Amino acid sequence: MMDWNYLADKLFPHITQTPAQVEARYPKRQLPEGAKVTRMGPSPTGFMHLGNLYGALVDERLAHQSGGVFYLRIEDTDKKREVEGGVQTILDAFSAFGLPFDEGVTNEGETGAYGPYRQSQRAAIYQTFVKALMARGLAYPCFCTEQELAAAHEQQEQNKENFGYYGKYAVWRDRPLEDIEQALSQGLPYVVRFRSEGSIENKFRHEDLVKGKMELTENDQDVVILKSDGIPTYHFAHVVDDHLMGTTIVVRGEEWLATLPVHLQLFRAMGWKPPKYAHTAQLMKIDETTGGKRKLSKRKDPELALSFYAQEGYPAPCVLEYLMTLLNSNFEEWRRANPDAPMQDFPFSTKKMSGSGALFDVDKLRDVSKNVISRMTAGAVYDAVAAWSAQNDPAFHALFTRDPDKSRAFLAIGRGGKKPRKDIALWRDVKPYMDFLFDELFQPDYTLPERVSAADAKAILSDFAASFGENDTPDEFFQKMQAIAQAHGYAAQTKDYKQNPDAYKGAVGDVSMVIRIAVAGRQNAPDLQSVMHILGRETVLARLDAYAQALAAQ
Ligand code: GLU
Repeated sequence: MMDWNYLADKLFPHITQTPAQVEARYPKRQLPEGAKVTRMGPSPTGFMHLGNLYGALVDERLAHQSGGVFYLRIEDTDKKREVEGGVQTILDAFSAFGLPFDEGVTNEGETGAYGPYRQSQRAAIYQTFVKALMARGLAYPCFCTEQELAAAHEQQEQNKENFGYYGKYAVWRDRPLEDIEQALSQGLPYVVRFRSEGSIENKFRHEDLVKGKMELTENDQDVVILKSDGIPTYHFAHVVDDHLMGTTIVVRGEEWLATLPVHLQLFRAMGWKPPKYAHTAQLMKIDETTGGKRKLSKRKDPELALSFYAQEGYPAPCVLEYLMTLLNSNFEEWRRANPDAPMQDFPFSTKKMSGSGALFDVDKLRDVSKNVISRMTAGAVYDAVAAWSAQNDPAFHALFTRDPDKSRAFLAIGRGGKKPRKDIALWRDVKPYMDFLFDELFQPDYTLPERVSAADAKAILSDFAASFGENDTPDEFFQKMQAIAQAHGYAAQTKDYKQNPDAYKGAVGDVSMVIRIAVAGRQNAPDLQSVMHILGRETVLARLDAYAQALAAQ
């Protein structure tokens, strides 16, 4: 008979605290009935992807809409994948999206009573529980080398058996103490494995908050719970942490479903109630070349990186709002009924989440973003563009902020009404939208409108120059256009031209297009009279003249 207490003391002589002492430092949270405790557990690999944000939004909503707690735990148990500055990348990404953590790692150290919140600082805690498991005969050291494990794998392949450490392949599971002591005296490295009593013959029921009811197969593998450096694997670390930290719902990617039986088994062995699990579906996209669905890829899809959104100038609320449309199928309907309500008013529910892959679509993101931006004030847009361009386009920043009132006045055109303009999806769009406002960027395309000759265009420009009123209303401007149209054989009303196209050269719209081309240098621009008012008399007349000269030179 193995003396498990002896072995536990031998392997963990430095662990003198008991599990009960650790538990006492993590009292049950005092929260209102129904309050959820969620956490984000990213690893500091230096790369934050859209899936991290997608999951974090679920966590944040579940916690905050129930009066609960949303905390950040850094899962840095895998030193091989960790990069320098990785924690900072995590903090920056979440702060850019304004997802407020209530506890955990912050730029100013840790906050909250359930820390430490970095797994690498919790080694003694995990070891305390591993030691206790070992004392109960539920964990044991395994001295297998990588070569031995690879050889077993090869044999399993040949025999067409399941891979892994189980049954006869679990060679250290029932080893006598002498063997263990001998290996220890040789200083051989070892891991600690959990002693599984599960069998793949047994199935059990489980209900996932996203995937619904499912049947799972018991785990029969003796998984590693402590690596040779004394740091736990994800499996064990998350069980201990989510228990001690009082997590009630674990939201994580569906890639963890395969090892869920291990996790539930560990909770049971520890005598702890497992949290509820919400396994979120993979983010997919339509591949541009094949037209088929595929997972977002780090290599092919820049939009997978969270840093992409800040660089391009997608406002954080737009990205969150778009993710919410992916997360809850009824969000868009709610948004249409509540166009001005903050997103936080939407009753988010895991029941409305789809268990199969969510389709990420940049065009859809742009549409959502245009809607969100169209509801912002010109002042808010101005501030955001000033901040974004300072970082990402200093040359434009200088022009944009040279005369703030001018830029704000331009951004105010078509804003605020029932049907606001939707020209801007991301801050990078602002420059091409308003570059013509600045003489330094004004590069007109003087192509004539289809139904206007060069001679007519010149006459229209000169008539308009003579009658232009900087402070006219849009209506007054339109009446002037109608008068000029009539004087040159164009219909004053579009419908007259449509009814009787042979009687006219074109319609009033063709005439005002000439002015638009002169002033904005292109055929698309917001309300022209407003634009001309902002540009001022001198600039408008200079541009009318420049177009006339260009036409004369043809
Ligand atoms: N550290 C894990 C990951 O980055 C977290 C999974 C979880 O949230 O439990 O995938």
